Amino acid sequence: MQLISNIASLRELRRAWQIEGQVIAFVPTMGNLHEGHLNLVREAKKRGTKVVVSIFVNPLQFGENEDLDAYPRTLEQDSKHLEALGVDVVFTPTVAEMYPRGLEQQTFVEVPGISYMICGASRPGHFRGVATIVCKLFNMVQPNIAFFGQKDFQQLQVIRAMVKDLSMNLEIVGVPTMRAEDQLALSSRNGYLTQEERATAPALFANLRDLADKIELGRRDFSVLIAEHRQLLADAGFKPDYIEIRAAETLLHPGHEDQHLVVLGAAYLGKTRLIDNIQVFLNK
Ligand code: AMP
Repeated sequence: MQLISNIASLRELRRAWQIEGQVIAFVPTMGNLHEGHLNLVREAKKRGTKVVVSIFVNPLQFGENEDLDAYPRTLEQDSKHLEALGVDVVFTPTVAEMYPRGLEQQTFVEVPGISYMICGASRPGHFRGVATIVCKLFNMVQPNIAFFGQKDFQQLQVIRAMVKDLSMNLEIVGVPTMRAEDQLALSSRNGYLTQEERATAPALFANLRDLADKIELGRRDFSVLIAEHRQLLADAGFKPDYIEIRAAETLLHPGHEDQHLVVLGAAYLGKTRLIDNIQVFLNK
């Protein structure tokens, strides 16, 4: 496994792979890898003849009062996990390598509409930062297939929209969310939770599961359901950010014709913001 931190070396390798006819599978991450990330890598191994994983904590997608500085950086441990899975390249660029002209004047990619709602409303500029870094990484790695977790459902749909809008020549694969035994979605941010908060955390998924069940059983009074489940989340000890029921592809409010929905939730436990979602398939 090669650790590469500059773009020129990555491009050189990519050129050689091109000549060999390799299929490049790519998994972008911010590191501090857990089983959720490693599962994306396993899927990438199944589809690609070469697997590239990037580890880059992207300052452009963090808001001013967010956890950029505190975000866990565990490269040594991450490398061991990736090596064991047979990853070919770990790409770990510096901020200066990624943003040579600084953040202020950086050209950006913005996917309008879908980027402004739900998490985007709570975190202005977040999806612009995500789309920009993912576009840059795609230009560097030039993958044939890239893997993203359904855990960050809105992110996945923003990336899909970007790829479509900008006619990017690659396949995007969404991988189901990996969970702890108590169903808490695995996340690097779970490490911020106190013992007590960690014990409360699975109630977010339980809340969304319950809500999804009600929809599957025929409830269509979505605004009533959302208000009820927001209250239940608060009663469980969270500070709710949002609960939403949306059409899965567009993330718009669903109409009668929409059969593929997604229930999404975000809530704070102390200072830690947790997100989760469940897809709902109607009439099946
Ligand atoms: P991050 O390092 O948080 O930016 O995540 C990198 C990739 O891993 C993203 O595509 C995430 O959606 C994905 N991911 C994070 N947590 C999970 C999880 N529990 N299950 C599946 N994918 C995940």
